Amino acid sequence: MVVVGGGIGGLAAAVALCRVGWRAVVFERSAGFGEVGAGLSLWPNALRALEALGVADRVRALGAVETAGGVRDRSGRWLSRVDNAEVARRHGLPLVVLRRADLVRVLAEAVPPGCLRSGDEVVGVRADGEGVAVEHRDGVVRADVVVGADGVHSGVRRRWWPEASGARYAGYTAWRMITEPVDGPSEGAVVWGRGERFGFTALSGGRWYCFGTAAVPAGGGGSDEREAVCRRFGGWPDPVPALLAAVPEGGVVRHDVHVLPPLATYVRGRVALVGDAAHAMDPALGQGAGQALEDAVVLAACLGSAGTVESALARYDRSRGPRTRAVARRSARLGRVARWSWPPAVAVRDLAARLTPAGATLRAMGPVLGWTPPVLPDGGDGRHRQGRARRA
Ligand SMILES: Cc1cc2nc3c(=O)[nH]c(=O)nc-3n(C[C@H](O)[C@H](O)[C@H](O)COP(=O)(O)OP(=O)(O)OC[C@H]3O[C@@H](n4cnc5c(N)ncnc54)[C@H](O)[C@@H]3O)c2cc1C
Repeated sequence: MVVVGGGIGGLAAAVALCRVGWRAVVFERSAGFGEVGAGLSLWPNALRALEALGVADRVRALGAVETAGGVRDRSGRWLSRVDNAEVARRHGLPLVVLRRADLVRVLAEAVPPGCLRSGDEVVGVRADGEGVAVEHRDGVVRADVVVGADGVHSGVRRRWWPEASGARYAGYTAWRMITEPVDGPSEGAVVWGRGERFGFTALSGGRWYCFGTAAVPAGGGGSDEREAVCRRFGGWPDPVPALLAAVPEGGVVRHDVHVLPPLATYVRGRVALVGDAAHAMDPALGQGAGQALEDAVVLAACLGSAGTVESALARYDRSRGPRTRAVARRSARLGRVARWSWPPAVAVRDLAARLTPAGATLRAMGPVLGWTPPVLPDGGDGRHRQGRARRA
């Protein structure tokens, strides 16, 4: 088994597959297994997937539980408040926020030794008899199954789904940052402006994960993104200015947000897509990584069960397609509304948010957050069964 891409989806897939007895080799083109993008929210469904991978306790120890939050308008007034303790009461697990790099490290450390190849880019994936040949910078490997976990600009998807449209700009750019320890507010929030948003949520150790978004043309950006963020959001309501002041020099990353149109199937032959390569979605719901983690667990549950590889991959596809497409649609809807900029539309949006009871919002999220993982079959000593990746 070869996994192309060592982000959250690829590493989680490797952990899960090794747990059920496959030997999975992860190729990551970057020099190490790190993550840009500052922080990450993990909702109960994501934590449940991490429980199935056996790393939830470590992740929770590194993160902070978000106990309260909500949406405020550009003047700072609350439009809606969410008691996130209610999330835990309803779903048995809280909303946890942590540094992306911490999650990636925990996942990378959970992959059995010798299975990670960093600094090794995959340049081709082609059918080879019953299996798949994977060309990478240092040679060719033959595998029974290939997992395409190479993100929104996935080369695996391009090669195996040549008819599918590629990534499209979602219409806004995102700046992400982590503050130094600062005497912050008592709760997180997202402030909705006109075509702009600024969100902040506590991390452990007195730091805050913040993000700003703006509906601007793609491809912008300059040498000093911290300066750009301070210019754009420095006049926003408290505590935004104080949080921005606590962001270190060079501590802001900027990315144009891209999404992928839905695919009818995530499996073709012996190739399966997971995570953003399958369904990169608008990040408004904070579910992209969560869905990647779910994919990983379900793929391993299917491939770890009795039956042929083909039937296992078909089960994976049937299980993940409808759910991820539904979550992506929902996230896209929220993202569209959140970046409205026409003043009358913004006024209606903000009024609707004020009138919607917080309980209703959480109830509506129930099907997304209430996901439960399949049981992972015991893979014995974790050595590979049928899925040995072989040198060609
Ligand atoms: C602004 C923003 C905020 C977000 N906030 C949240 C949040 O709070 N909660 C949440 O759950 N999700 C969030 N997401 C979504 C989440 O970041 C993604 O869904 C998740 O990181 C996808 O992981 P992945 O492993 O599928 O892809 P990626 O993280 O893109 O990883 C792909 C990996 O593949 C490697 N790769 C690519 N091509 C090759 C190749 N040819 N050979 C070898 N390696 C290759 C890349 O280097 C990369 O490491 C957010 C996204 C954005 C943009």
